[in-house]
Amino acid sequence: MADPLELEPLSDAQVDQQRTSLLEKRERVLAAVKSAEQNQDPDELRVADEMDLSSVGYDQAFEYRLRDRDATLLKKIDKALRRIDAGEYNFCEECDGVIGAPRLLARPEANLCIDCKEKQEHVEKMYEKRRQRMTSFEM
Ligand SMILES: [Zn+2]
Repeated sequence: MADPLELEPLSDAQVDQQRTSLLEKRERVLAAVKSAEQNQDPDELRVADEMDLSSVGYDQAFEYRLRDRDATLLKKIDKALRRIDAGEYNFCEECDGVIGAPRLLARPEANLCIDCKEKQEHVEKMYEKRRQRMTSFEM
């Protein structure tokens, strides 16, 4: 059971602070993505785009995962900013319950309460296991 203290919503001032730190985080991620792109040979990038990721070298595959992760994080940050503008920031997208101040302060881009997040992670793990089984079967 969740601690009742965790179900305190953020105050308006705290939500404003979250907006500021989300915007700063967004800038940092964008700067990191840009510098990673500048360090890559554009020709190499184009070739890699056309190839199956499993056939590119480990280093390149790693770059791609990094960029995927950045893209996912940026989407989450943008979504959180939209949720702040819409006045929905304190509430879980799934069950409309209060997400809770400590969780939002620790993870400003969170859009689910801890219960719904745990459910989602459970489902993701199941899919991941299934995907791994299928991959090893193909080999
Ligand atoms: Zn929820």
